[in-house]
Amino acid sequence: MTLHQNLIAGEWVGGDGIANVNPSNTNDVVGEYARASAEDASAAIAAAKAAFPAWSRSGILERHAVLRKTADEILVRKDELGRLLSREEGKTLAEGIGETIRASQIFDFFAGECLRLAGETLPSVRPNIGVEISREAVGVVGIITPWNFPIAIPAWKIAPALAYGNTIVFKPAELVPGCSWAIVDILHRAGLPKGVLNLVMGKGSVVGQAMLDSPDVQAITFTGSVGTGKRVAMASVEHNRKFQLEMGGKNPFVVLDDADLSVAVEAAVNSAFFSTGQRCTASSRVIVTEGIHDKFVAAMGERMKGLVVDDALKAGTHIGPVVDQSQLNQDTDYIAIGKQEGARLAFGGELISRDTPGFYLQPALFTEATNAMRISREEIFGPVAAVIRVKDYDEALAVANDTPFGLSSGIATTSLKHATHFKRNSEAGMVMVNLPTAGVDFHVPFGGRKGSSHGPREQGKYAAEFYTTVKTAYTLA
Ligand code: NAD
Repeated sequence: MTLHQNLIAGEWVGGDGIANVNPSNTNDVVGEYARASAEDASAAIAAAKAAFPAWSRSGILERHAVLRKTADEILVRKDELGRLLSREEGKTLAEGIGETIRASQIFDFFAGECLRLAGETLPSVRPNIGVEISREAVGVVGIITPWNFPIAIPAWKIAPALAYGNTIVFKPAELVPGCSWAIVDILHRAGLPKGVLNLVMGKGSVVGQAMLDSPDVQAITFTGSVGTGKRVAMASVEHNRKFQLEMGGKNPFVVLDDADLSVAVEAAVNSAFFSTGQRCTASSRVIVTEGIHDKFVAAMGERMKGLVVDDALKAGTHIGPVVDQSQLNQDTDYIAIGKQEGARLAFGGELISRDTPGFYLQPALFTEATNAMRISREEIFGPVAAVIRVKDYDEALAVANDTPFGLSSGIATTSLKHATHFKRNSEAGMVMVNLPTAGVDFHVPFGGRKGSSHGPREQGKYAAEFYTTVKTAYTLA
């Protein structure tokens, strides 16, 4: 089997590889991917440092051309790359292809941003002096990504980093190196100069840690768990570097008595279970007012009966497998914890077998949960959700906000008054009305507050905040 190597200083290097295994069928090896050492990470950082002066001063058309070509190739290969994504991560083929198209759109958007770079000129408060405000590249950017969006998250970090003139050391998650390797290969062939983008696949504790410990990495953008995010933060403070963290969520979805029942059920099922519940924006707390509670739970049960859990690549599958054994153990542990805590497992939650050996779990819905239970406070990151019964809107809002996280939130209601109030008072970075908590656009800001995020927003023109540093220059006329 061909070994997919690391890209360091424009050369494909590395011998020792590990198998990338399909969670829908553990007999299926997607490919062999090299594992970088700490020394490889240091060489990649040195290459990115050496490439920075020229790339940061490169013409905007050169950067535009590389990003444009990349967007085009990803789009042309959307079926093949979407399939690779679903095969290595386990989300359905439709979701895999959808995410691939989104990655193309992200490269396209930032190709455009290269041509829209702008500054400001202002008069000084002192006569005859002009002030120019411009944005400059930050330097070597370390990119560390999780496994659950194998192509979109790398795209939304790599594209702006390059557009604004930074060079990159990129470490994808161990579980899903395939899509990352593919987009680095595309960018490399699209004409990036040597060392501008370096790929170091491998273990977080080795490769990621080497990036955290290097004084030559000027910024780190991280998406992943709270625990690793804290390590990134501590190391970055130590090195006085810029850092951006996108971490966990415990996103609430509120259903009010006046909701359209079918809209509420569709949004709740999508939020809780699509992409196997493995989205940072997934909702695992469904907060329902008492007038609609029983009708809503019954309708959820009916809807859940129709969900087909199977091989991610099979036509007709709605929910693919869990990503690996350790995540499956975490999901089933939380199902056991929920029962012990006194919540009622109303639907699903069983391990199921299919034609191929994979990590299949029937989506689980608890009822009679309280917001104090661990299943309501801790991120499970699987197809497991809990319904919390509340008296009215005021209690629903209070429960929704009673969490250490603040990534996204949602409400199902036909009341303009409640929708407006919720948009203003929900303590989340993204708020959805009559829509699932997950599913966001690529051209607008993405991010949260409280324990979910730290630093400037990602995506859209707001990405410039992280990937540039502002210069204020004064000139005597
Ligand atoms: P993780 O923290 O285990 O790993 C994330 C990345 O960090 C991986 O590439 C890993 O190799 C690396 N890493 C691990 N140890 C490291 C170290 N010591 N130094 C440097 N890097 C290290 O997270 P995961 O399990 O891959 O992803 C799941 C988590 O990601 C969930 O908590 C989820 O909510 C979160 N997530 C958040 C968002 C968001 O935008 N808020 C989006 C997607 C996923």
